[in-house]
Amino acid sequence: MGSAESEVYNTDVVIIGAGPTGLFSIFEMGMNKMSCHVVDSLDEIGGQCVALYPEKPIYDIPAYPQIGAKDLIDKLSEQAAPFNPTYHLGQQVNSISQLDSDGRKWQVVTSKGTNIVCRSIVIAAGVGAFGPNRPPLEGIEEYESKSVFYYVKNTAKFAGKSIVIAGGGDSAVDWALNLHDIAEKLYVVHRRPKFRATPDSSEKLRKLAEDGKIELVIPYQLSRLEGNNGQLSAVIVKTMSNEERKLEADVLLPFFGLSMNLGPIAEWELGLNKSHINIDPLTALTNRPGIYAVGDIATYDYKQKLILTGFAECAQAAHHIRRFLNPDQVIHFEYSTTSGVPKAV
Ligand code: FAD
Repeated sequence: MGSAESEVYNTDVVIIGAGPTGLFSIFEMGMNKMSCHVVDSLDEIGGQCVALYPEKPIYDIPAYPQIGAKDLIDKLSEQAAPFNPTYHLGQQVNSISQLDSDGRKWQVVTSKGTNIVCRSIVIAAGVGAFGPNRPPLEGIEEYESKSVFYYVKNTAKFAGKSIVIAGGGDSAVDWALNLHDIAEKLYVVHRRPKFRATPDSSEKLRKLAEDGKIELVIPYQLSRLEGNNGQLSAVIVKTMSNEERKLEADVLLPFFGLSMNLGPIAEWELGLNKSHINIDPLTALTNRPGIYAVGDIATYDYKQKLILTGFAECAQAAHHIRRFLNPDQVIHFEYSTTSGVPKAV
């Protein structure tokens, strides 16, 4: 997974969003012999299922009486894998531009400058791009991805570091529990004594603090950063009455939850209907030829916002896109039991 920022990619379909319907779209496009690039603002695939409720069981996925949300995403990713999708994660699609007159050639550009030319676009953007809530600290951008991180991908990177974790929810507490034994020093900054994490995790955190293995910095909030060229040297925190403390630190991990933002999609002339995109449910086509929408973001009369509804929309979209891109081809419907899984194109 990943992307080279200067290269221009070419593919049949760009899928915006790697939630359950974005992932199933890869499979449906592949079955219709179309290649895909998939972009998501999050650093990992899975959309709401992984970002909001990875451990929860889902009971209304056909053929699975019960499946964990993260397990469903693993299965969808496995089902899509034979079609070699290219994932561009941790970047938001900022713009789409029509390059021809009839909607069969598009350019998609992301927040990291990834540039993809494609023949069709599927918007599987759910409730909008997910991203971390950034603390409003002056100059924080300079430190992001160097010494300020909103996600932990590789714990080894933090071995021997002096770490400040900020936040009071599950992520803050769980990462404090995970990182305390490899960090040289670990502070947990929270603005109130009570943590919102599960009682069990909060209790473990308090025990670590009592044993002197971490330091709880309460009730404090982040105030400003000190450092050079993106490398932190200290995090300054303060109380509500502006008493300051300076925490010597190499790394800041702010965990203030996720925000959801429809963002640039609102500017793509898709005739939004209360933050949703009207589609024709027979084809998943929007009001712009060549642009389709599936899943939570797509709406029509009596739409049910369910994963299984979204899956059916992916199939409708794939069949229509194939016909739209190959108007002179006679396309015969085939069951997967007959066609098998075609080789990636
Ligand atoms: P999402 O899962 O929302 O994924 C959209 C993705 O698009 C996100 O990752 C987002 O970052 C990305 N994105 C958006 N805009 C951009 C952009 N411009 N650039 C790049 N990336 C972008 N449904 C059920 O069917 N059964 C259940 O039991 C069930 N339980 C649920 C429980 C909870 C707690 C919640 C919150 C939801 C539940 N749902 C359930 C709803 C289900 O999760 C959604 O219907 C489903 O996730 C929608 O999938 P999606 O692919 O359309 O969008």
